[in-house]
Amino acid sequence: MRVVFVGPPGAGKGTQAENIVRDYGLFHLSTGDALRAAVKAQTPIGQEAEKYMSAGALVPDEIVIGVVVERLDEAKDGCLLDGFPRTIAQAEELDRILAEKNAPLDVVLELDVPEEELFKRLASRGRADDNPEVIKQRLVAYHNQTEPLVGYYTGKGVLRKIDGLGTVEEIYGRIKAVLDEFK
Ligand code: AMP
Repeated sequence: MRVVFVGPPGAGKGTQAENIVRDYGLFHLSTGDALRAAVKAQTPIGQEAEKYMSAGALVPDEIVIGVVVERLDEAKDGCLLDGFPRTIAQAEELDRILAEKNAPLDVVLELDVPEEELFKRLASRGRADDNPEVIKQRLVAYHNQTEPLVGYYTGKGVLRKIDGLGTVEEIYGRIKAVLDEFK
């Protein structure tokens, strides 16, 4: 099963991704985690990515796609792509990569959370890029660059919207109900 997880910063993708990979045995690829590891290790990619991440901007497509291509080969038994793609260009590149492997996406989960709730959740999290100015920029980047993916994947008939309000267990229950259709 190949799953993409889309949603604004603070929607709870990371938390739910942990539940999903545990129960469905999927390879978890979080580009945010991979980029943060590169920043921590101060690799050339990390040094470049850090400039964008600290400003709440998206890292350029070429850099992110490089990170994904390197790791996607490990995803033999299916994958959960968490935070990738985040632009139409990334989505098109992903389609090309998966078409070559003859392994199309099964489903794209959109975690839907109202903006005022996102601010509350992000402000209480305490990550380096969770200060109010950077949060605002990350939400702008989401609306301008990532939200168009909802239309892109709706057009392909693979998008499923998940209500992201409620307890972690309630939201995970909604996710499982969808994923169980594809097992
Ligand atoms: P996340 O942990 O998914 O919230 O990602 C943290 C930050 O990493 C984002 O604000 C971006 O700067 C960068 N990032 C992660 N994934 C991508 C992506 N697919 N495209 C561009 N930038 C990304």
